[in-house]
Amino acid sequence: MSAASINNSGSPLLRNAIALHAAFGLTGLLIAAGFSSLGQGYAIWLFSALMAFILVGSRLMQKRLATSIEIDRRLNLLADCHEIRTESLSPVIARDHAAQGWNRLVETAIVQRLLDQADSSLHESTETGNDSLINRIVNILNDGLVVADSSGTVLWRNDSLNALLPTDQSHDGQPGLLHFHEFFRTFENFDEQIAALTDTRTLAPVAFEMYRGETTNEGVLRISRQCLAENERSHGGATFLWTIRDVTQQKLALEMRDCFVSAATHELRTPLCNIRAYAETLIAAEQINAEEERQFLNVILSEAGRLERTIDNLLNISHMQAGGMTLDRHETQIERLVNEVQETIRPLFEKKTLNFETLVPPRLPDLNVDKNKLAAALVNLLGNAIKYTPDGGCVRLEAEFEGSEIRFHVEDTGIGIAEEEIPRLFERFFRSSDPRINDIQGTGLGLAFSHDVARLHGGRIDVASELNKGSRFSLILPASLARLTPS
Ligand code: ADP
Repeated sequence: MSAASINNSGSPLLRNAIALHAAFGLTGLLIAAGFSSLGQGYAIWLFSALMAFILVGSRLMQKRLATSIEIDRRLNLLADCHEIRTESLSPVIARDHAAQGWNRLVETAIVQRLLDQADSSLHESTETGNDSLINRIVNILNDGLVVADSSGTVLWRNDSLNALLPTDQSHDGQPGLLHFHEFFRTFENFDEQIAALTDTRTLAPVAFEMYRGETTNEGVLRISRQCLAENERSHGGATFLWTIRDVTQQKLALEMRDCFVSAATHELRTPLCNIRAYAETLIAAEQINAEEERQFLNVILSEAGRLERTIDNLLNISHMQAGGMTLDRHETQIERLVNEVQETIRPLFEKKTLNFETLVPPRLPDLNVDKNKLAAALVNLLGNAIKYTPDGGCVRLEAEFEGSEIRFHVEDTGIGIAEEEIPRLFERFFRSSDPRINDIQGTGLGLAFSHDVARLHGGRIDVASELNKGSRFSLILPASLARLTPS
């Protein structure tokens, strides 16, 4: 029997009771007519009415009993679920639409029971030893947590702290750190100010940053402290919760963003100012000869090109970051590609006194590539070679097809790159810390873009560089992009 039939039982039962009562009453009246005694007839009628109500009452009891058995059955069924998913309960209970009132009651009871169970299991697990749920949670957090008293004695700490401790204080999960205040002394910027902040005589929350080395790259930890409990017996002593978070990546990202904003502003403003100044001079000049006029127009053209390249790089980078860069491939002649790159870069060359060489052997195959993006990638490499090579140096662009690869080498005899900076060259906004580049314009986006273009074509960029000797950037594409024309 389902709980369904109960909900609607009110009116049918009443109808049944009236029908039974009427049937027994009619029978009583007929018998009374036969006995010709109204008293006897009335007694039988009363008896019949009583029987009718006993029958209906017992049926009602039976149905109520069945409903409570059904509720229990469903409660047991659903209490077996390890998760509380009320939506999964509804189809079971609401199978019979007539029982909606009871369903709601059953559902509430089930949810309540499951919540109670979850509550008590959480409670149990917080009280049972190291493997408790809370312990597991605090140990998978990235933040280090330490509970220490006012003297700095460590009362409790989570495992995540090990990764943040200096190696001599953390050995294979052993407690290592016994006195928390020692931890601060391992940092470069530990000074009187930090010592004052870590003073546990004040109970107010504090937060500060500690630097592992002189630069942000070596690690930055954000440390915060909150008072958990004040201990009156030890004369103002207290228990503190210390939170230690590694914020090195956020710091680096912020530094890079700041660098980028100032570099991008400079990169956009400088050519714009130059264009404006030269255009105003041209307009205002009353007597200007054709040669001067040509020179001025050339400067305007070259500055407009620079502006265009910066804007292109910015757009490309934001496009790439949104995951939206796709290739528009066409059959492309290597010689044409190289010529286009040379044309774009010409104004940069004209500003410097460099020895420029191009080496493109004959009969190179056509490539199935995105010509515009590949040209922009090579322009970045060549532009860098020109920018970072002092006057009198050499820059060379070479294309070669060998074995399984097509290679474009851009070589210079410029300032070179320190070995430790080479792995970071393709990071967005990265610029060398070499002071010689301070006066050279750049946003740190060109190589990141060129690298992505190479990767999208299934290739890569190799770098070889030596400080004060020069650099060689090789954009390498797989030979599968070559379209070999029958000779
Ligand atoms: P930028 O706009 O600063 O030139 P890039 O992404 O093109 O940005 O280059 C990143 C950094 O790599 C440069 O800031 C520079 O420090 C270094 N670099 C790139 N190419 C060369 C090169 N040919 N010679 C020396 N340093 C280079």
